[in-house]
Amino acid sequence: MPKAIVENSKSNHRGQCFCGLIKFSVTGETFWSAICHCNSCRLTSGAPIMAWTGFIKEQVKWKGPARKEFSSSEGVTRGFCGICGTTLSYSGEKFGGENIFISTTTFENPEVFVPTEQVFSCESLTWLSLNDSIPKVDML
Ligand SMILES: [Zn+2]
Ligand SMILES: [Zn+2]
Repeated sequence: MPKAIVENSKSNHRGQCFCGLIKFSVTGETFWSAICHCNSCRLTSGAPIMAWTGFIKEQVKWKGPARKEFSSSEGVTRGFCGICGTTLSYSGEKFGGENIFISTTTFENPEVFVPTEQVFSCESLTWLSLNDSIPKVDML
């Protein structure tokens, strides 16, 4: 990984939804960055895949109106902008109640959060072809 990317992933990062009403900033390092091929991510985002970057909730500061939230499965909360619909966050009891996953592509610079694995690859669309050097796992 280029040195600049390593350094950038340890500093502060900002992001926002498409309309800019909801903004956030994150301090410190991510503990996980991955691509998800699951059907729930696909339906809630409207995209073939989602990319998620994980943090401890205290690392993230939100600005603007609260995210709209709904539960996509038991113990899972997904957050999105109530105006433009951008998918912003995911949290699940199964993945640690203290953790939050931010949609990687809502960061100003998503390039710094290089995915290290592809999860739920068993649910991937057959016509989707991605960088095969990123390890794949069927579940999580
Ligand atoms: Zn918005
Ligand atoms: Zn998913």
